[in-house]
Amino acid sequence: MAKQIIPTPQVKYTQIFVNNEFVNSVSGKTFPTINPTTGEKICDVQEADKADVNLAVKAAREAFKLGSPWRCMDASARGRLLYKLADLVERDKDYFAALETLDNGIPYNDGMGTIEEVIQVLRYYGGWADKIHGKTIPIDGSFFCYTRHEPIGVCGQIIPWNFPMEMVSWKLGPALAAGNTVVLKPAEQTPLTALYTAALVKEAGFPPGVVNVVPGYGPTAGAAISEHMDVDKVAFTGSVDVGKIIKTAAATSNLKRVTLELGGKSPNIVFADTTDLDEAVLVSHEALFYNMGQCCCAGSRTFVQEEIYDEFVKKSTERAQNRTVGNPLDTNIESGPQINEEQFDKVLDLIESGKKEGAKLQCGGSRHGDKGLFIQPTVFSDVEDNMRIAKEEIFGPVQAIFKFKTIEEVLERANNTSFGLAASVFSRDIDKALTIANSLQAGTVWVNTYNAGGANAPFGGYKMSGNGRELGEYALQEYTEIKTVTVKLSQKNS
Ligand code: NAD
Repeated sequence: MAKQIIPTPQVKYTQIFVNNEFVNSVSGKTFPTINPTTGEKICDVQEADKADVNLAVKAAREAFKLGSPWRCMDASARGRLLYKLADLVERDKDYFAALETLDNGIPYNDGMGTIEEVIQVLRYYGGWADKIHGKTIPIDGSFFCYTRHEPIGVCGQIIPWNFPMEMVSWKLGPALAAGNTVVLKPAEQTPLTALYTAALVKEAGFPPGVVNVVPGYGPTAGAAISEHMDVDKVAFTGSVDVGKIIKTAAATSNLKRVTLELGGKSPNIVFADTTDLDEAVLVSHEALFYNMGQCCCAGSRTFVQEEIYDEFVKKSTERAQNRTVGNPLDTNIESGPQINEEQFDKVLDLIESGKKEGAKLQCGGSRHGDKGLFIQPTVFSDVEDNMRIAKEEIFGPVQAIFKFKTIEEVLERANNTSFGLAASVFSRDIDKALTIANSLQAGTVWVNTYNAGGANAPFGGYKMSGNGRELGEYALQEYTEIKTVTVKLSQKNS
């Protein structure tokens, strides 16, 4: 019998975090955070809105002032603070993983995987802190010219609910390594792990005001950040619609720098000469069903070459039928609930559209059980490019399998989308695989695998999947301003 090994974690922090203190909201308002597995309220959280964001920005600005402890700190010491934060997350990783499952519904083992990644990301950027530097440049004339990579300043960071802690680390890591200060808004659905991280930020020894966490809603707290005249940069992960709102707000306020990581409709292309059909089936399954499909880079368009199509569909259906769905705190469970009713309804609506538009339902197709926000792992075959399930980001456990004949055809169809986040190709022909990899319009392409990556590998989108890159060295560029300093010299010596 499946055993539940993780007790319900106690929630320790529910207030807004400003200047290294937990405080109540100015308005006195709170909002509930819900356990998606049961639909029950976990607790009330202090609700930040414009007034609280203003206080957080003020604290972040003060912490960024010339001569402040943060601005005067050695870069290597900034790095050590990030290492320390990573150590504290590692110390509390069982708690973090349980809290994430409670608030978000991610299966416990998968949640733990994301916490391990958080630790890696914080350590990776800790290592960068004293390696961010400019160049000396031999311009013509009698001059000494050099560049400095300076922090941008106060960075607003607005993150989604699908990987709450992972998103915290992707945002904090490069921002802090480069010496910025931060006002971070977690998603209203999943504020708890970000608030616990705030407590660890203080415990690690970051000076007050360097990291501020403002739980609240998008149109209030989120908008206050993106419209703020004293925020220098905003980094956002979430939907395309909100990405556009944020870019517009930046444009109509102070032209703050903007980086966006938005959605995707990622093609996963399986050729008949794939190295191992069973392996391709399993990887393609995980590429879609991981985290109940709530993954921006989910392999949501599975293109399979006609010679192996029927067998691939059969095996994918069997695998989906065997996927275990239930309480995500049970470590034998592979899929938990969708995050909330809105997403649950949206996914079921898209499933209905697939049925109506003539895709062939191989398995699933409705809710799982009669309680909670669980959806049966669903597989559609015979999906056509003009169907809604082929075009819209479903963000749910719905695998859409398309048939193709030739490389040229599949390339054109794979690229025929406004998104460009990720893609993959399965083939044992290296020439074919690389032709595809180099021709796809996507920020990440996997060959004979999916979702492989690391803190040092950049991630981000082409086209409407976003602007800029996260992770790796490239993310640091998004958190620095380049300053050119040119000094007149009395004599030039080569
Ligand atoms: P969302 O874009 O509305 O929310 C993401 C974050 O933006 C949250 O913190 C939210 O509070 C904030 N936000 C919302 N409105 C805002 C505004 N006007 N100004 C500033 N911030 C604002 O995403 P959602 O509604 O939670 O999900 C809707 C769809 O978005 C999903 O179905 C999925 O397709 C997509 N999504 C993508 C990702 C991703 O990783 N790229 C993550 C979550 C959701």
